Amino acid sequence: MFLYHPIKTYLYRMNPFDDNYFMKRALEEAHIAFDKGEVPVGAVIVVDDRIIARAHNLTEQLTDVTAHAEMQAITAASNFLGGKYLNQCTLYVTLEPCVMCSGALYWSQLKKIVYGASDPKRGGLALGVNLHPKTEIVSGVMKDEASELLKSFFSQKRT
Ligand SMILES: [Zn+2]
Repeated sequence: MFLYHPIKTYLYRMNPFDDNYFMKRALEEAHIAFDKGEVPVGAVIVVDDRIIARAHNLTEQLTDVTAHAEMQAITAASNFLGGKYLNQCTLYVTLEPCVMCSGALYWSQLKKIVYGASDPKRGGLALGVNLHPKTEIVSGVMKDEASELLKSFFSQKRT
């Protein structure tokens, strides 16, 4: 009995589609937002290692306070799948979802949510909002990159 498979382990390690890979794609979206003068938050939604939705914050462009990256990613993913529940999907978002987005994410029944930087003031989890009981939550993935981008955005705004 061989419980340890060196080749399989090697191939597993070679799989580039890990949480960091998809968080990098979400960070790319955050950079697009930054360049547009939007608060730099980005998101992607993934099924079976495939990105089915990409979004970034567009509250300025759409003059709509609800145009957060997550809200748009949910709509795009549901349109793509033709179903309202995202229970096979993972959302990657660069900042902890706010209370509004956490509410929407609850309804979408995501399989997994991976976020980068924490948001102690506005974050849904920080403020005690429960996500769907079946949703797995991973926090802190590439959090330094995400928070540096937010910090440089707000320090640029102040000057
Ligand atoms: Zn939000």
